[in-house]
Amino acid sequence: MPSLSEFLQASAAHHKHLCPRQVLGVRMGMRAALELGLDLPQTNKRLYAFVETDGCLVDGVIAATGCNVGRRTLQIVDFGKVAATFVDTTTGTAIRIFPHPDARQTAPLFAPGERDRWHAQLAGYQAMPDEALLVVQPVELSVSMAAIISRPGVRTACAQCGEEIINEREVVRGGIVLCRACAGESYYRLREGAAVTAQG
Ligand SMILES: [Zn+2]
Ligand SMILES: [Zn+2]
Repeated sequence: MPSLSEFLQASAAHHKHLCPRQVLGVRMGMRAALELGLDLPQTNKRLYAFVETDGCLVDGVIAATGCNVGRRTLQIVDFGKVAATFVDTTTGTAIRIFPHPDARQTAPLFAPGERDRWHAQLAGYQAMPDEALLVVQPVELSVSMAAIISRPGVRTACAQCGEEIINEREVVRGGIVLCRACAGESYYRLREGAAVTAQG
């Protein structure tokens, strides 16, 4: 398994620089692998990550675990929290990891002589033992991994907008197949008077 500094190099290369939250993401991923007994970075799709914010943390998690959105092994659940849940999809075991509430304060103790708090966190988060840096919670998922992963190749079309829906993300209302947008879960609405340019 690659070392912490090798994972950090990979993360920083992608992120353009190294920052404390990437270190947290890498350390969380490494801890998850230890807890779940998996090798990193994964070359299959066994490990799945729910990351509770976007931004720097995710790049660290991706670099360490090999989980990512394109591989359908990672999703953002945007609670605005520096936390992540890692699932062994073979056994169903899930653990949630977040920074120790005192980590920000204790980081400088592990990185004496750093010129400011940011650098103390950057160096301290790399040097701290897991117990000082992270909290690990055993959890049970309230969502279905089988439903999240779905099956390759399944597709249907929305009865209202006609757009294709993959991965069984449709909603069935009174026997009518709808996409989530047409079912009322949309994050957008068409501008008034906007021309529809796609040909049906
Ligand atoms: Zn950053
Ligand atoms: Zn639709």
